[in-house]
Amino acid sequence: MSRKVAFYTFGCKVNQYETEKLKYLAIKEGWDVVSFNDEPDLFFINSCAVTHVAERKARRLINYIKKHYKNAKIALAGCYPEKIKLSPEELKVDFLLDNKQKWEFFGGNEDSVFLISEDRARAILKIQDGCNQFCSYCIVPYLRGRERSKSLDYVIKEVKELVARGHKEIVLTGIRLGAYGHDLGDKNALVKLLTKIFEIEGLYKVRLSSLEPMDITEELISIASHPKLCKHWHIPLQSGSDEILKKMNRKYDTKYFSYIVDKLRERVPNIAIATDIIVGYPEETDEHFEETLEFAKKIKFMKIHVFPFSPRPFTPAGKLAPLSPKIIEERKRKLLNLSNLLWEEYVSSFLGKELEVMVEEKENDVFRGTTDNYIKVEFKGPFYLKEGDYVKVILEDIDKEKSKVYAKLVKDELKIG
Ligand code: SF4
Repeated sequence: MSRKVAFYTFGCKVNQYETEKLKYLAIKEGWDVVSFNDEPDLFFINSCAVTHVAERKARRLINYIKKHYKNAKIALAGCYPEKIKLSPEELKVDFLLDNKQKWEFFGGNEDSVFLISEDRARAILKIQDGCNQFCSYCIVPYLRGRERSKSLDYVIKEVKELVARGHKEIVLTGIRLGAYGHDLGDKNALVKLLTKIFEIEGLYKVRLSSLEPMDITEELISIASHPKLCKHWHIPLQSGSDEILKKMNRKYDTKYFSYIVDKLRERVPNIAIATDIIVGYPEETDEHFEETLEFAKKIKFMKIHVFPFSPRPFTPAGKLAPLSPKIIEERKRKLLNLSNLLWEEYVSSFLGKELEVMVEEKENDVFRGTTDNYIKVEFKGPFYLKEGDYVKVILEDIDKEKSKVYAKLVKDELKIG
């Protein structure tokens, strides 16, 4: 009788990519991959430890499974068990598997299966792992190890395979994506890789998951206007105060950040620039936070992902006295309000304009998808449109309360290739 396993993923795109691969490794080993409703024999949680909130969510899920599926076993895998020295009993699970053991559990390693990504219109492809940066607040280098990249030839082979399987959009990801190839002795490897990827016939768009400011070079900016490269760059700022950036061991200042954004906008005038900002870093004063607000307004981010500071083990910032939760909450609220205003401003500038959208969801005649510059839109269309199709829409209206954007279909089929 076959064994049934259900997967659950927390955290970043790298984790999502790895879960996809783990599923295929499990299938290869004779497991049936099922949903939570199909009475699995095993729940496999691919976890995240980047904040204490991510860990709490994993513990809540474990409690939920324990309560509702009395006979099932639970494997907690990935970054949470990587360095947190707790026993399976303490975490109420049957198996604790670090980032190496999670592959071994299914009898292989990361390279045992070629990437197959079936359930997404766009495929995520990890090209790099690890980080040497050691930002003062970040546990990731302790969990994911040193930087290492796949070879250019191997990535090209993977992209071609994904395109042959019908994916028209690929999201390149890594723990520090912009450091792709640095470990192979090539600081310009990402540009070389992208240039090769652009030549692949049948691939319509390439998206970059996130790039650290210090990894954005003049060469990279010079290819930003390529029609196959999505006009949405996620560049983590973390703080708009130079003093705090220094304490965070970030290797740039606000002047440099402004410089790269200006250069990108010279190349691609309407480019969407999104970011991550940490609020309540232990030494962040009201003045530092005000600087961050002002800087975010000046840059006009399309979206700000706000992260309340979370003290992490092993990190220098984790040893500092934390700010009061009330202060952190208040700063989070202010920054999220600003993010909403900036999002409205950015999206409003496209009302009445034509944009390309990839269809991601369908509900009767209502379709949802994301534009090249990461505006999520809803529109009506004909029954034959399907997930992964590219269409052209005109943005018509914004519902600010629900952060929804409505559009009208103008062309229901785009020539891809
Ligand atoms: S660049 Fe900094 S924040 Fe990003 S993974 Fe590396 S250490 Fe963490």
